Amino acid sequence: MKHETLHKLKSIVGNNRLATAREELLCYSYDGAGREYLPEAVVFPESTEEISAIMKLANSTPFPVVPRGAGSGMTGGALAVAGGLVIALSRMNRILEIDELNQVAVVEPGVITGTLRETLQARGLYYPPDPASLKFCTMGGNVAECAGGPSAVKYGVTRDYVLGLEVVLPDGGIIQTGVRTAKGVVGYDLTRLFTGSEGTLGIITKITVRLIPYPASRKTFLILCRSIFQATSLVAGILSKHRPCTLEYMDRTALEIVSGKLPFTPAPGTEAILLLEVDGDALEVDIQAASLGKFLATNNDLLAIMEAESPEEAAALWSARRSVSPAAFSLKPHKISEDVVVPRSRIPELVSFTEGLAAEHDLTIFTFGHAGDGNIHVNIMLDKSLPREVARAEKARASLFRQVIRLSGTLSGEHGIGLTKAEFLPLELDKTSLTVMQGIKKFFDPNNILNPGKMFVTQCHKKNN
Ligand SMILES: Cc1cc2nc3c(=O)[nH]c(=O)nc-3n(C[C@H](O)[C@H](O)[C@H](O)COP(=O)(O)OP(=O)(O)OC[C@H]3O[C@@H](n4cnc5c(N)ncnc54)[C@H](O)[C@@H]3O)c2cc1C
Repeated sequence: MKHETLHKLKSIVGNNRLATAREELLCYSYDGAGREYLPEAVVFPESTEEISAIMKLANSTPFPVVPRGAGSGMTGGALAVAGGLVIALSRMNRILEIDELNQVAVVEPGVITGTLRETLQARGLYYPPDPASLKFCTMGGNVAECAGGPSAVKYGVTRDYVLGLEVVLPDGGIIQTGVRTAKGVVGYDLTRLFTGSEGTLGIITKITVRLIPYPASRKTFLILCRSIFQATSLVAGILSKHRPCTLEYMDRTALEIVSGKLPFTPAPGTEAILLLEVDGDALEVDIQAASLGKFLATNNDLLAIMEAESPEEAAALWSARRSVSPAAFSLKPHKISEDVVVPRSRIPELVSFTEGLAAEHDLTIFTFGHAGDGNIHVNIMLDKSLPREVARAEKARASLFRQVIRLSGTLSGEHGIGLTKAEFLPLELDKTSLTVMQGIKKFFDPNNILNPGKMFVTQCHKKNN
């Protein structure tokens, strides 16, 4: 970036909130996707007005801008692939309002999701979306990716709770979308358009979310299965008559890598587990638990059905489940982690396909994830210093995506497209849909300055501005 551009940025945010030193830039050069691109500068705005001024400058200069929350995204969305400026939203981290009477909260984008959930719980309120990264990811990143989590099976995902947004557009204009009422159908639903737009259409500066009462009671169960097939085949059956609030699945490898964190020792022969919870008021939970018990008893070949004996034991189970993704690196130094989704009844076909892929390409591939949504995390482990292994892994990934589409599934349930999946978009979207989407991007961002190179494959060259 030219000295003059940096000088103008400093005049917007002051000397202390602009970073250009290489050691500082390095901290903003990577995310959960495991790739690295060094930005030319990082700015730490504290208000919508500052972001608006930055975007006006970026659009007129022009230079690329990448919004960034906690950098936990799995598809390279927060990476400065074209250089330019990263806007770190970490300083805009205030919970602005909790309206208990109307069950609405208004937050800045840098609020950590887990912090919001804990603050609300203390007031008997519940914001259900619970990505496994909730202890560090931000609300802005969640809205931009339309994050989901284990509770999506009953409560839905981020988009089901976002009522309205404040957004700074690429030209610096500021818009308010949506409502803070229970209903509202005025105009096009721009809130939905921005939710899941992966930082390509605007920078989210305020988020209004809908809340519900905190469920009073909860029971947590573990189902130990003799085979992956047995575990995944149970899912559709359980959901045909019950409404658990989570229904997670882990294969044997996933269990092994977090074994040190598990509050129990899996019985010999355990090839997969289902982690299942029911919540609601106490009576409702008892009725659901009894009904589930009856259903599972009809499957007399299960290894064991265990109930967590205390909230601490349940928390330990969840801690182990949330550790699977980072623990994978004990297997190999790198991974390709995909979050494909198939109709629930087709999970067994998908999982058995991944076993075939592992054998065919001589790779370690393991699966876990939100079985209740058909959202399975397929982890292809590799060592990037071995070019042949990388080539085999990439082939396996492409085959996986084609199979997911054949099974009437979708390429991403929650991690988005970002950089890493942009080339595969045409596998799922027809040409006309792609043209419409690219037209929307062009309307909002004619100079392609906001998060270029994400979602769609585009040429974005590093420029000296
Ligand atoms: C261990 C681990 C577990 C995970 N588990 C889950 C899971 O269960 N469910 C799930 O959905 N995801 C999960 N993720 C992925 C990730 O945490 C989510 O995508 C999360 O929503 C990203 O939030 P972030 O603040 O880190 O955003 P970042 O990674 O910083 O950014 C993500 C995208 O959002 C854009 N963005 C960020 N803030 C804004 C803003 N204010 N305005 C506009 N665009 C913005 C960025 O440009 C980028 O494109 C996991 C990641 C890890 C590392």
